[in-house]
Amino acid sequence: MAPPMGYRTTIAGSLPKPAWLAETETLWPRWRLDGPQLAEAKRDATRIAVAVQERSGVSCVTDGEQSRVHFVHGFLEALDGIDAQQKVRMGIRNDRYEADVPSIVGEIQRVRPVHLEEARFAREFATGTLKFTLPGPMTIVDTLYDAHYRDRKTAAFAFARVLNEEIRDLVAAGVDVIQLDEPAFNVYFDEVDEWGIDAVDAAFAGIACRKAVHVCYGYGIDANRKWKAELGAAWDQYAHIFPFLSRSSADEISIELAGSRVPPHVLAGLSGKDVAVGVIDVASDVVEHPEQVAATLEIAARYIPRERVVASTNCGMAPMNREIAYAKLRALGLGANL
Ligand code: ZN
Repeated sequence: MAPPMGYRTTIAGSLPKPAWLAETETLWPRWRLDGPQLAEAKRDATRIAVAVQERSGVSCVTDGEQSRVHFVHGFLEALDGIDAQQKVRMGIRNDRYEADVPSIVGEIQRVRPVHLEEARFAREFATGTLKFTLPGPMTIVDTLYDAHYRDRKTAAFAFARVLNEEIRDLVAAGVDVIQLDEPAFNVYFDEVDEWGIDAVDAAFAGIACRKAVHVCYGYGIDANRKWKAELGAAWDQYAHIFPFLSRSSADEISIELAGSRVPPHVLAGLSGKDVAVGVIDVASDVVEHPEQVAATLEIAARYIPRERVVASTNCGMAPMNREIAYAKLRALGLGANL
């Protein structure tokens, strides 16, 4: 049999939601519907998200995170020990931006599966490999107010425990890849070394599926653009954390490269891992040419064995314009096969 052509493809996770489902081009949108109508609209949006990826040539698809209001808070809403109603305004990602966040008010418990029905639905509809994304323990802790544990590490391991329970259910439902999103890793290097990797490994412990960790420079929102502008000519965050990620149990690390100032040679620090390389810039509305996508992949392949390179987006596309996001998916699929 001939070897497969081109690179494998995936996306970081989220896609924009249709205007009939939720407010558009915002990070914490309000739903347009409620009750059974909202549930049906989420399923329809998931059908579209999966279909658009498959038609664009994405080989490992997600549900586009169409059923959650936000990649962290969607998971927290269903847990015991969280007060999702009483929001606290807090600086997150080391005060990069302010958000209204839920509070930990008691022992964290998963009283029921959180995303199981969504995963089952996406599994039924997707024809190929299905990835499901969940927030990582450190990023969860960094995106809420802790009035109970009052210690980031203790809280992170409490979330790792419930993530592990959730992941078992998702894998039993046929999910092929679980990805933990840890943008906070790019901010708190010492904590990544001290307990961040251990918390990820605890969430993945004993799970038989492909495991991924996504670390990025964030959505294309103004606060992140401003932060990136202050990071200097060469972004050295990955150089700090890749050696830590190398010792994690993850099979694949998802990172940002397109349109960034990440020095490509730092990719060599991820030896032994598959690397989902961001070849689509989610902070720019300019749609990449397939040739540009292919060129970014070639740069990555100088530092990572070619068969370990997976073409992906830099980060989630949730707050983007929907048609631009879809055009970028087509560029991703075409570029990976050039
Ligand atoms: Zn991201």
